[in-house]
Amino acid sequence: MKKFKAGILGATGAVGQKFVRLLADHPWFEISALGASERSAGKSYREAVNWIEAVEIPAHVAGQTVKDCSPEAMAGVDFVFSGLDAAVAGDIEKSFATAGIPVVTNARVYRREPHVPLLVPEVNPDHVMQIHKQNFHPDGKGFIVTNPNCVCVPLTLSMKPLADAFGIESVVVVSMQAISGAGYPGVPSLDITSNVMPYISGEEEKIMWEPLKVMGMLNDDGTVTNADFGIHSSAFRVPVVEGHLLSVIVKLKKQGVSEEEAHQAFRNWKNPLAGLELPSSPVEPVKLMDDPRYPQPRLHSGRENGMQVSVGRLRKAGLFDFAYTALGHNTIRGAAGGAVLNAELLVKKGLIT
Ligand code: NAP
Repeated sequence: MKKFKAGILGATGAVGQKFVRLLADHPWFEISALGASERSAGKSYREAVNWIEAVEIPAHVAGQTVKDCSPEAMAGVDFVFSGLDAAVAGDIEKSFATAGIPVVTNARVYRREPHVPLLVPEVNPDHVMQIHKQNFHPDGKGFIVTNPNCVCVPLTLSMKPLADAFGIESVVVVSMQAISGAGYPGVPSLDITSNVMPYISGEEEKIMWEPLKVMGMLNDDGTVTNADFGIHSSAFRVPVVEGHLLSVIVKLKKQGVSEEEAHQAFRNWKNPLAGLELPSSPVEPVKLMDDPRYPQPRLHSGRENGMQVSVGRLRKAGLFDFAYTALGHNTIRGAAGGAVLNAELLVKKGLIT
């Protein structure tokens, strides 16, 4: 199989660095261009980046010259990943799609566009077909695919077995979100050391809307009818480096579901990506844990290279129907790793060529 030439937009940022790390030895993709702002363009990657990953900068990337984020400067790439600052991502990502270059992005700008997939590949793989209704490029070669907010990923993955088996009526979610989710340098240390911040600007709105698109129904015209359940969200920043922990309470459409049936729904759920052999695809995307002390961010967010969502403490709830705890690695499964898996699915479906 040929290796696809991948560009990284925003390669010097926190998410961009995670892309560099995840793609350094990728069997299908090679990093062929690194893009960032004019502050970084022209410098070697080693000079431009404030490297915050816990491994060395991959040797074959460190000496590459950073380019500006234009299709001309990054000519020759087969597609780009984007970890751009949302303030600039809109115009830049559009310029690539218009130039016929697929964009697989973490930024939020296009998530609500009617024909742009908001993709969690194990939850809504059919939504990739939305790209055929995009008109960035006359031949349809350039398109944009987004991945959702880093809470939406573990929330939708953990709700999916229950939604498939019983339907979901409403959800209350409290997210305890890691500091790395705010990028670098992120939250001031005086705010977060030995403390919890009970507000993350803009976060609760994303958590209450994005899962409805991800779990919505694809229509023939390429739009999605959002799922019809309600979500209430409270988002907290906690002094944890990596791994967003969620406390979820769900009311099901089906009445009278027993605790055993709810457990069986997780155990019987079939991963729609099984058999596709996507390199970043976890064997068990959703892992139900029996030990009531689990999952914990430090112990479990790195499972299956950070791509597994762990679920624990699944139990009957006094108010709604069931309560559980879910955990996802925010910068891998909830950001760069999720985007890499999206790109792998697009390649497998022949949509990136
Ligand atoms: P970040 O560390 O601030 O990095 C931003 C990147 O954008 C840098 O590479 C920066 O390049 C580049 N950039 C800024 N202005 C630019 C311009 N005018 N032209 C070209 N490039 C420009 O941000 P981050 O935390 O990695 O987040 C990146 C995106 O991912 C955001 O949209 C964020 O909402 C989203 N996201 C983040 C997380 C997370 O866990 N951090 C999770 C999910 C989604 P320079 O270094 O040259 O300034």
